[in-house]
Amino acid sequence: TPKEKVCLIGSGNWGSAIAKIVGRNVLQNHEYDNEVRMWVYEEIVQGQRLTELINTRHENVKYLPDVKLPENIVAVPDLLQSVEGATLLVFVIPHQFVKGVCEQLKGKIHHNARAISLIKGVDISKGGLHLISDLIKENLDIDVSVLMGANIASEVAMENFCESTIGCTDRLNGEAFWKIFHTPYFRVAIVDDVAGVELCGALKNVVAIGAGFIDGLKMGENSKAAIIRIGLMEMKKFAKTFYSGVKDETFFESCGVADVITTCFGGRNRRVAEARVRTGKSFETLEKEMLNGQKLQGTLTAKEVNEILRTKNMVEQFPFFTAVYRICYEGLPPKSLVEVI
Ligand code: NAD
Ligand code: 13P
Ligand code: CA
Repeated sequence: TPKEKVCLIGSGNWGSAIAKIVGRNVLQNHEYDNEVRMWVYEEIVQGQRLTELINTRHENVKYLPDVKLPENIVAVPDLLQSVEGATLLVFVIPHQFVKGVCEQLKGKIHHNARAISLIKGVDISKGGLHLISDLIKENLDIDVSVLMGANIASEVAMENFCESTIGCTDRLNGEAFWKIFHTPYFRVAIVDDVAGVELCGALKNVVAIGAGFIDGLKMGENSKAAIIRIGLMEMKKFAKTFYSGVKDETFFESCGVADVITTCFGGRNRRVAEARVRTGKSFETLEKEMLNGQKLQGTLTAKEVNEILRTKNMVEQFPFFTAVYRICYEGLPPKSLVEVI
């Protein structure tokens, strides 16, 4: 039987951390081709092409410095060349770029390709709420699973124990991806609730922005715990409102409560939202100053969620999401957050 061949579409902070795991796992399994191509959005770093730096130093010096990548991870600047022959596509780019990437891939992928999305965000480009996994599925006409969890990239790269959650429709496809991700320190569970897993991953970034505001105001841990609880409740309500099949149990997997907690303590969205309150600088400025090319997902997701709620006349039913949006985009003072929720 022909071997599975993996392509990683994306090479940022998380893309690079997961490359370390995938690269090792395919070497240990004869059902998988040993070469893993990783599409890199090309840029010049320290006077050299990032792809060349990755392929010679086996390290993503810009997005995940000081972590060695397995030598079978091959950085490729051309998107179509990266997916050539690939049967398992791993999408791991910031959510604002996925539409453009899908359009380039349309009609150009392997006939047996299946995908998994590690992307935390939603799609509202066609009007109405859509999952990023559905955007990929509809553009490429393939089955799409998702992997989300309490997985801050730098900690995963250090091989500290954590868990993650695969959501899949086709169990065999979910298992084919499980084999490239699961390790004793990165423990992956499979559930059959794609929408629940994916919406947890997307919406927790909005909760993290709220938690960062609380930190910026120095309100302490009780307040933050309250934000986490209230945020989780709105995540569940929102997910079930738009996808009636979403299951309560999903919120107790790594993709649910665990990811909300880790992101509200250790994530980039939290950190930048805290700085937003302390410095008064805009999110745009802070993203550039603090993240060295990495991207925030929570502020854009807050806006996308608000747009959906507005068209559905449901803003009052989601006071927390609405307040985070208004603080980010309408000048509502951060301290109002706890007054309106
Ligand atoms: P990142 O935040 O490091 O983003 C930077 C990446 O985007 C770089 O690879 C850059 O080259 C690329 N990029 C910039 N402009 C682009 C363009 N126009 N088109 C395509 N790519 C472009 O990325 P990340 O941390 O790997 O995040 C990817 C997804 O994974 C996000 O949805 C994020 O929420 C999710 N995620 C991140 C983490 C984490 O800890 N970093 C953990 C779990 C999930
Ligand atoms: P941030 O993007 O806020 O760093 O969150 C990372 C993440 O998704 C951890 O699971
Ligand atoms: Ca192999």
